[in-house]
Amino acid sequence: MPEFGTVRYEMPSPQVARIVMNRPTARNAQNLQMTYDLNAAFDIAVQDDAVKVIVLAGADPHFSSGHDLRAGSKNEAGADFPSIGGWGGFREKGAHGRFAREQEIYLQITRRWRNLAKPTIAEVQGKCIAGGLMLAWACDLIVASDDAEFCDPVVTLGVCGVEWFVHPFELGPRKAKELLFTADSWSAQEAHRLGMVNHVVPRTDLTRFVQDLALRIAAKPAFALKMTKEAVNRAVDATGQQTAIDQAFALHQLCHAHNLQQFGTIIDPAGIPATVRKPAAE
Ligand code: ZN
Repeated sequence: MPEFGTVRYEMPSPQVARIVMNRPTARNAQNLQMTYDLNAAFDIAVQDDAVKVIVLAGADPHFSSGHDLRAGSKNEAGADFPSIGGWGGFREKGAHGRFAREQEIYLQITRRWRNLAKPTIAEVQGKCIAGGLMLAWACDLIVASDDAEFCDPVVTLGVCGVEWFVHPFELGPRKAKELLFTADSWSAQEAHRLGMVNHVVPRTDLTRFVQDLALRIAAKPAFALKMTKEAVNRAVDATGQQTAIDQAFALHQLCHAHNLQQFGTIIDPAGIPATVRKPAAE
């Protein structure tokens, strides 16, 4: 089985790859290592012809607390990550480097995962915060446990929501504004009512339910599954979603620039949780 520093790669059956974020003591906060581990794990699952469905899960107790605000640009061995996207500027200083970096590790990589050639299911328990939402939203289906909570508190940090801005598409514009304006946490039941979540199941049943769902999908022809995913994604694209995401990303960068002028940091320090030692350098 492939091994990664921050991600477990499991195969509960030959047709299902289960990719598990594995930094439980950090609530599975997504640092750069995890971003690239996830990407590598997704690549393996996509390239394995036996795998029909990919599950994205988080080691208990929480799915994801979002981007690791303490994360730098080095991997756990201390080496710089190469830019995999090829759009350049990743190492530049100031707005140039920040734009390039966030474009790669948040925007383009999430777009890539959203368009993976096989059906994906997010298995969400506990907290799913900010960047955690991006991970769940990138998947085709979301199954949540009854104790799951969803929240994007990024406005509190002086920024207009997370980088992959699909809130209006996932929730409808009015509820999206409420989620963002208030930074409230919403229950799995509320997310289900709004159509953001496919199923809500008891916490103890979550993994088994997702596996059963994955196997039912895996029984269908692979190419038809791929084309069905393409058809739905293209329908969403035809609504202008990609353009809307890119517009919001530009405004997100404007927020970072504003905060830098105002506070000397790219996020409003008043919104940084006490548990985070120093503001993000990203
Ligand atoms: Zn940002």
